[in-house]
Amino acid sequence: MGRSSHPARLVAGAMLALGCAWLVAGGCAGPKRLPSVETSPRPRPGVEPAVEAAPSTVPAQELPAHPVAPPIPWLEPAEPLRLLGVGLLEDRPTLEMRAEGAAWVRDADSGHTLAALEAGEPLTCRRSGEDVSWEAGGESGRVRSVALQPIDPGFLVSAPGGSYRGDFLVIATPRGHGLTLVNNVELEDYLKGVVPWEIGRHDVSKFDALCAQAVAARTYTVARIGSRQARGFDLYATVMDQVYKGAANEDARCNEAIAETAPLVLRHAGREIEAYYSACCGGSSCAVSEVWPKPDLPYLRQIADKSSSSGEAWCAGSPYYHWRETWSAKALERILQRTLPDYVDYMAQGGGAWAGVSFTPSRGGSAGRPGALREIAIKRRTPSGRVAELAVVMAAGTYHVRGDRVRWVLTPSSGNPNILRSALFELEVVRDDERLREVSVRGRGFGHGIGLCQTGALGMAAGGQSWRDILAHYYPGATLDAVTRQER
Ligand SMILES: [Zn+2]
Repeated sequence: MGRSSHPARLVAGAMLALGCAWLVAGGCAGPKRLPSVETSPRPRPGVEPAVEAAPSTVPAQELPAHPVAPPIPWLEPAEPLRLLGVGLLEDRPTLEMRAEGAAWVRDADSGHTLAALEAGEPLTCRRSGEDVSWEAGGESGRVRSVALQPIDPGFLVSAPGGSYRGDFLVIATPRGHGLTLVNNVELEDYLKGVVPWEIGRHDVSKFDALCAQAVAARTYTVARIGSRQARGFDLYATVMDQVYKGAANEDARCNEAIAETAPLVLRHAGREIEAYYSACCGGSSCAVSEVWPKPDLPYLRQIADKSSSSGEAWCAGSPYYHWRETWSAKALERILQRTLPDYVDYMAQGGGAWAGVSFTPSRGGSAGRPGALREIAIKRRTPSGRVAELAVVMAAGTYHVRGDRVRWVLTPSSGNPNILRSALFELEVVRDDERLREVSVRGRGFGHGIGLCQTGALGMAAGGQSWRDILAHYYPGATLDAVTRQER
């Protein structure tokens, strides 16, 4: 179950990944003829990363019927396939990558082979005007976009930041001066590089939480395919979307959870849901509009995240269930000189009616120059108890800070974490006579609090709840369904 994909499926994946690359480059005209696989070393079924504690031992009789690539598998893939382009780096002056086995270097627009590389030989790319200059295997040239495709889809590619499954695409960064590195990878392989970094590595008692996380991450991914198209890929490999670190340090149990739940996603009203999740909800998850200037969704509601029998929060075991942050008035005043004008700019760009008035000036005051801190107070709370509006009275006027943005305004003095852990907090203000001396926040939870609570899911799993129960708890009304086939 934890075994890697069927080789035929991976080959199909690699072909389609290159197809995706052509599409991204704007020149996709259908599948291109790829070189024969005779030169390929024998594919390695059941490839597992070298770092895994328990390497896969696939018995010989389980080898697939077609140990070499089947004929034109990309036309009729046997299973639903989803391929995505993950943006690993942007605007880099040079890029170098190597496959652990033989690989082709291709012109990603035409599909033509530019060079054949032996194991470990580098492909080096530089930006050249609107093109990519490449050097590989004693050859060099200049094309619009370059693809690196291992001959055996089981071979990993080492690139800046780690080693990866799938193919690579190098394009000129749109509106930039450097290069963008895209990893074209099959959905299930991508998830292997996401799930352990998003929820961590856990013992078998928490297996169902890993399964719930796998479904949430798969759903999030499918719903986001195409969302970063202007940049030349589908998703960032960071918290901007989901943390993805490729094939290095995969986790055998997380891989098993991914296989256990494949190919299921959560759907509502005929489409994949917005499967948000965060580290710890602090005992109560929240609706979208409580924290973000976005419309509410029926399956993302405020939920009391606690056991009905014990009454204890499922996420009470999190180290961030309770936390505290303290600033001297002077230190906070310094931080606010930067974060308050940033907040006003941010809301001017996207807050709309949700934001209301961001700044009420005092006489002659300007939003860009806050000045002395006079007062700070919570004015309104959301139904889940999060801060709906924080009033920060400065010499220049009053800043009305909304929803989750309070986390970007009250940034910790230590810089760790770089924003406040959550918007679920009490404020304590210490004064000397009338002057502010110290400001403290006593908070609960870590993250925005929408959707699945990761530590709550771990608590539910340890308490004997199934992954289906966990998903039904955090995404009420969503249903499980197989991911639809690639549409492009
Ligand atoms: Zn929780």
